[in-house]
Amino acid sequence: MTSPQPLHVAVIGAGILGTSTAAHLARGGARVTLVTQGKPADGASGRSIAWLNSSGARSAEYRYLRLIGLDRYRTWRERHPESSAYLRFDGALKWAGEDESFRDTFAYERAGGYDSVWLDREQVAALTPDVNAEAVASEGAIYNRGEGWVNLPDLIAALLAEAVADGAEVIEDAGDVRVDVQDGTAVGVILGNGARLAADRVVLATGGHVPAQLAALGVHVPDATPAAFVVVTEPVEPRVRTVLNTPRVAVRPMPDGRLVLDADWAEKSIVVGEDGALTVPEASVRGLLEEASRVLAGNPTLVAERVAAGLKPIPGDGEPVVGSVPAIAGLSMLFTHSGATLGLILGELVAEEVLTGRPSPVLDAFRLSRFDQDAAPAEVGTGAWAPVTAAADISSAPS
Ligand SMILES: Cc1cc2nc3c(=O)[nH]c(=O)nc-3n(C[C@H](O)[C@H](O)[C@H](O)COP(=O)(O)OP(=O)(O)OC[C@H]3O[C@@H](n4cnc5c(N)ncnc54)[C@H](O)[C@@H]3O)c2cc1C
Repeated sequence: MTSPQPLHVAVIGAGILGTSTAAHLARGGARVTLVTQGKPADGASGRSIAWLNSSGARSAEYRYLRLIGLDRYRTWRERHPESSAYLRFDGALKWAGEDESFRDTFAYERAGGYDSVWLDREQVAALTPDVNAEAVASEGAIYNRGEGWVNLPDLIAALLAEAVADGAEVIEDAGDVRVDVQDGTAVGVILGNGARLAADRVVLATGGHVPAQLAALGVHVPDATPAAFVVVTEPVEPRVRTVLNTPRVAVRPMPDGRLVLDADWAEKSIVVGEDGALTVPEASVRGLLEEASRVLAGNPTLVAERVAAGLKPIPGDGEPVVGSVPAIAGLSMLFTHSGATLGLILGELVAEEVLTGRPSPVLDAFRLSRFDQDAAPAEVGTGAWAPVTAAADISSAPS
């Protein structure tokens, strides 16, 4: 008697979501082909603040999803002790601008059992000596010792190695890969060179390009994807450990002492050219460096090593859109913000759904079907334009 052939699943996109799904599928016994346009981690996952958290006042379902996202990182850390180089839970601090307050956010987090504590400036100085306590809001700050960060390109490399060890095939530089749909069923993928690759199931995980790719198949996904950028600094001594979310800058350490910086105001300053090219004003880069220096102990001089710009995938209502695509049999999708925090858990749950055919109750609140599929696609979001990256005055490339 011959044993049944394993399910063949093609996954499009080697960011954190596609790679995690591929690794979990391969671990679960599927035959996996992961195809990606360029190199792994060349999208949002390569230029993410990647703060691991379930912070802020969000829906109960989203809060829970991020909590089990954090849980899977702790499991990963136990399974991979070497991950301590790129996965840290050294705590995170956030504070409000002087014209607002985080007291309500703190109360919400505490009411949900989240491990936040309120610190005044003196306590900030004692507990997070890498932070300039003078820069903290006069009302104080929210500190969570259990939050952390991950350097996604390292995690993606580790997941890829695991997937390949479990038999997955990875096709890089595949160009613009599309889902091959025939008679309403996903039957495989079409590579950039036109070659067809048959598969039993397809998973679409192309980050900010998911809405445009689904729109081409007649499926509407509300999209609020903006262009965003981060500044990566040269290494800083003494090492920064705490992730910072402050009114004017977010700061997170990298494994080698460099810092990644971004901010909403800086994001809004990106200029999108008619051809889709992104230009990051030099003043925004300088501003981020100054703001970061101001919030760090000792006000170190920070030097930009590079700027990385591109799409920041965000669904229209801000919450993940995950699971099967009802209009197309055999097709699943992942499209979300907070994809660093959610990377391991969403890959695991989607893989389980594909392998078993059983929907996960955890994903019920995050289905595409929550949107009215008959609604006219009023906006396709910025994901429709090309992911060209350019910076005005210092060299820039998507990392
Ligand atoms: C500035 C910034 C800050 C962030 N901060 C946080 C944070 O603090 N915490 C948090 O949890 N999350 C954060 N995020 C969100 C998180 O980084 C993303 O949700 C996550 O990286 C998305 O992963 P992805 O796999 O969906 O997409 P991506 O990483 O973009 O991967 C998609 C992949 O698909 C490939 N691809 C695209 N189109 C095609 C095609 N047609 N054919 C083949 N391949 C294709 C791309 O080349 C890419 O490799 C942030 C994101 C940004 C940009």
